[in-house]
Amino acid sequence: MSASLSYDTLVAERHQYLQPLIAAENPIIGYIYPHAPLELFFAHQLIPTLLWAEPKVPGAYEASLQTFCCSYSRNLFSQRAKNHLPTLTAIVFPGGTCDSLQNLGDIWQARFPEDTVLRLTYPVARDETALTYFTEEIQNFSKYIEVSLGHKFSMKKYNEAVALLAEFRAATQFITAARIIQPECLPYTEHTKLIRQFLTAPGPQALQLIEQTVIQVQSALRNEQLIPSVEALRYGILQNNLADLSIPLSKQGPRIMVVGGMIDPEGIAVLFENAKTSADIESAEIVLDLLSFTYRTVFTSSPSLQGNPFHELAQSILSAPAEPTQEGLPNRLQFLQHVFDQFAIDGLIICEQSFCDPDQFEVPDMLKLAGKKKMLTVRLPLDPEFSDQARIEGRLQSFLETLSARR
Ligand code: SF4
Repeated sequence: MSASLSYDTLVAERHQYLQPLIAAENPIIGYIYPHAPLELFFAHQLIPTLLWAEPKVPGAYEASLQTFCCSYSRNLFSQRAKNHLPTLTAIVFPGGTCDSLQNLGDIWQARFPEDTVLRLTYPVARDETALTYFTEEIQNFSKYIEVSLGHKFSMKKYNEAVALLAEFRAATQFITAARIIQPECLPYTEHTKLIRQFLTAPGPQALQLIEQTVIQVQSALRNEQLIPSVEALRYGILQNNLADLSIPLSKQGPRIMVVGGMIDPEGIAVLFENAKTSADIESAEIVLDLLSFTYRTVFTSSPSLQGNPFHELAQSILSAPAEPTQEGLPNRLQFLQHVFDQFAIDGLIICEQSFCDPDQFEVPDMLKLAGKKKMLTVRLPLDPEFSDQARIEGRLQSFLETLSARR
């Protein structure tokens, strides 16, 4: 039996990814909500890093936060209170997403006045009015960065960032589509790690690792002439047009899908791999997750270099697959239905962050849909530290055993 994977080790690696940037005294901006305007930060000579929950810093009760704040917000706040966050030039909070992050941003500013706290307020809808509003909001946000940090907007840096992020998205979209067709081509643990490494320290080095992986995946798929199918699937997902695709899926083992919001995909990968080993069902694979920091980040269209950068950025962010924090549950459910129909999903893992209202809001409808398809489901109540690892792995183990017995 192989040794258990450890989530703590993966998280510790993130500090190592950031270390060269900190040592070179690069100005780093931390963000929490996945749909941040990364290209804009680069244009202002800031390097964005996606912050994470720290398992060694439990999100204890914090009197200044409202009782409705989720465990993820609590962990971030505790990290700041205990000086465990990486060195940041600024931190950006979203407005208009969930109450928890709104409260976290407010309290952070009051408790740590020495921090540079920025806020970008998102529209809840996705129509033309939302686009007009958000274009203006991003432009004002850009001006505020110039004033508060003294970092001017550089068109040259913006263009470079658009190219960097576009390559990251294209490469990770390809890997995601390839794994839906043939999940054996790259372990889910590797897939989530590559994405996280880039989002922690985005730059040419992290991109190179992803592009090398794409070459390996392509050479594995080329023998079976699967590359055109992967590209067709990738475009089908981007255009939200899955219904007419004919997809040559590998049916080796139980095919599992993961849904949820701001859950750490690397943590899910660890829990799943350990449960798989305990259940002795090595052929089971997570073929797709719809989590915020993987699928919803990767399948965002890149801004066009033609036209007003603020408008293009707004359009790019609004093109991302919608979060549970946004309007549009019927559309999300319709997409889920297409995924169930087209990707031959055998089992569904539903992740719920503790005290996350948006996650809780979506679950009953997802369960109803999975029930109609007679799909086996398991609900995982999680805290961001994955502190209940043994119990959750036990639950996943029984899920996999039941699934395997059904096939
Ligand atoms: S986990 Fe849920 S409640 Fe917490 S910040 Fe994310 S969306 Fe908001």
